Amino acid sequence: MYNLRLLRQLRYSLVLQNSGTALTHLPPCRLLAGQHKRRPQLGAIPSDQLDRLKSEYFERQCALSNEDWQHVRSTLTESYRHVNGTNVDAIILGLCSRAEQLPVAKSYVKHLQTQGIKPNAATMGRLLRVYNAAYHTRELSEAEQSEIVEICDTLQSAHDVLDASSCENLILGLVATTQHWNRALPLLDMMRLTSTPSVSAYSALIAKAFSADQLELGWRLLEEMIEARKLPKCEVFLSLLAQSAKDERTLGAQLERLFCFLELHDILISELVVQQLLALAQRLPQRLQVTTTRLELFGKCSTCQQNLQHVAISDAQFAELRESFLQKVLIRNDVFQKTTPQELQRFKQYVEKTAPYDCVIDGLNVAYSTGTKKPPAQLAKLLATVVRYFKERRKRVLVLGRQHMRNWSKPAMQYIQSNASVFLTNNLTHDDPFLLYATLRSGQDTDFFSRDLMRAHAHLLGTELKAIFRRWQQEHQYSLVTQTQTGQIIVKEPIRYRLSAHKVGNVWHVPYCEAYTANPPESFEVPDKWLCITIAP
Ligand SMILES: [Zn+2]
Repeated sequence: MYNLRLLRQLRYSLVLQNSGTALTHLPPCRLLAGQHKRRPQLGAIPSDQLDRLKSEYFERQCALSNEDWQHVRSTLTESYRHVNGTNVDAIILGLCSRAEQLPVAKSYVKHLQTQGIKPNAATMGRLLRVYNAAYHTRELSEAEQSEIVEICDTLQSAHDVLDASSCENLILGLVATTQHWNRALPLLDMMRLTSTPSVSAYSALIAKAFSADQLELGWRLLEEMIEARKLPKCEVFLSLLAQSAKDERTLGAQLERLFCFLELHDILISELVVQQLLALAQRLPQRLQVTTTRLELFGKCSTCQQNLQHVAISDAQFAELRESFLQKVLIRNDVFQKTTPQELQRFKQYVEKTAPYDCVIDGLNVAYSTGTKKPPAQLAKLLATVVRYFKERRKRVLVLGRQHMRNWSKPAMQYIQSNASVFLTNNLTHDDPFLLYATLRSGQDTDFFSRDLMRAHAHLLGTELKAIFRRWQQEHQYSLVTQTQTGQIIVKEPIRYRLSAHKVGNVWHVPYCEAYTANPPESFEVPDKWLCITIAP
């Protein structure tokens, strides 16, 4: 639930900061629509009664009588403690939210009106979502589109500021119209008052912009969405492909742009999008060839027999990455904030004195990688085994650790001390900045050993450099997979070829996954499924 006082304060502070903008016209005390509601989660409750209601009333896919609706409403409010007069209407519309249930949903709102009950913002918002579901299966009639606009007018005239959830509902309603979807754009700005616009809101609007041939608007919002770390839903790419396919002359350029975007942001498309690409290639074989493919050993494409590009970055890119990381990110963004200037100075001097290394090991990360509850002797032994792994390969190693590791088992720590450079920070310090500093400072051939994915650091670098950082990271990161019963370690070595969409010669190789997920796990695993794509020049 939104904190109303906080919202009001936020609005006031915005008014103060942006005097002269539209926000200054807001009267201070008008309420935000839908602020009182939380999305009801009835589906989580196993209930025979609920199933019965659903099958008896909502599956009929047509209008219900006033008596039926009264029965449904009273059954719900009487049977569930958390269902009350305020939220029951939105809950009922939530139960008939499928595209084909639009007539049922509308019949309920009509029923409320005949009873003299004014549906609240949450209820009308739910109805807009049902219109949106229908829009995804067919074009809405003019009458239906007018109904949407009327609901939006009513909600917007009653509230100067709508909360994020209401904005999302309105956006989903408006994109289902042909003439009025542009009205959804300012709602995206309104969402920013209380949160980052949602994946659904962004995706719906971008898909609409593409399908309305407003390509630049679509791309601009898409970049903005990625910047906000939101992953676009399949509908965005499906819409772009459908629109691009309308003009054969520009199709190639549009596809290039799309694949470059996937490459830059390391995005995996879903099978749904792949199906559309395959269908497009089947329809326009002279323009486009698309084949699903698998990788053989060392990243060789089984279709075109080419090897995927080596992941290594150029000398110039490395120099830029190192410069940015050492100068801008570390210093400006205070990632060393948990350390003291003296400790940082001591560390830098130590690195100057002992670098270059072949590998920098995050000692604590390694020691804890098979569990943090192990006795110190075991932790130290594991770390020593990793040091030995590199020693046997004649590598110069730096181990980063914490002061408390001095108390770990003597023999193992002695082995580490005599076979590696060791730098121990105070116990509160974050290790990653030290690890990345020492590795980057040491040179382009230096690797590091840690399971940490370094997401936060990567993000601080900005879009372009983040992609370069990711490639550098993929090429240089070792991590521990497991330790066997006999104490042997299994080390994950870096994968040397690129794992994101990229072009080899004239051929695009685009990885894909089964289905869209909003937060896919970030990892350096090789995707199973790839497309091998040739676009006619
Ligand atoms: Zn290929």
